[in-house]
Amino acid sequence: MNLPLADDFIDIHNHGASSATGIFSVENITADEERVPDDSHGLAYTIGIHPWHVTVKNYNEQLKKVILYSRHSNVIALGEAGFDRLRGPEINFQKEIFEKQVIISEEVKKPLYIHCVKAWEELLSAHKMLKPHMPWLVHGFRGKHELAMQLITRGMYISLWFDFVMRPESTQLLKSLPFNRIFLETDGGDTKISTIYEKVATDLDLTVDQLKSQLYSNFRTFFGV
Ligand SMILES: [Zn+2]
Repeated sequence: MNLPLADDFIDIHNHGASSATGIFSVENITADEERVPDDSHGLAYTIGIHPWHVTVKNYNEQLKKVILYSRHSNVIALGEAGFDRLRGPEINFQKEIFEKQVIISEEVKKPLYIHCVKAWEELLSAHKMLKPHMPWLVHGFRGKHELAMQLITRGMYISLWFDFVMRPESTQLLKSLPFNRIFLETDGGDTKISTIYEKVATDLDLTVDQLKSQLYSNFRTFFGV
């Protein structure tokens, strides 16, 4: 299992990451991809069935892959998994697929990364119903304070959408959230993780080093390492 160093920039969710000194990336593999996790690139991995890429036809094959690789030592979380009302199969099928991945996450005792678009009721009611012991991380978040607090109150963590977090209007939200529940990500976009840290550190009146140490501590708590 690869882990970040205390003074690394932590990119909690990426697609297409390569290893770089000073940056620790958690790379996502969606189960319809050919790729598999490994230990040799200084990255950690998540693997899951993404609502965009699943069909009734390919579901079983993807599920087998997730079950197999969920136990890989360098897969540190399940997902991204979740709900999308704008893309993907019908919502009841999405629910079934999501619940399967919650069960796997609980079985292997690894957290779950969430993709959620316009389906917050579904997400919250799944959390209430399934009562997971593993923490969930809602990635790509760009919603309102009230929604963020609803998720956080249920024990979830939030990684802010890279594009939103760079905008001036994210400052207020950032300042209003508990620091110990936040992560940052590039999500395969062009913005560098160091640039995102600089913007957020300024928003929070912290130095980049202080922000690094906060997010490092969040990482250790979230993953239990
Ligand atoms: Zn993503």
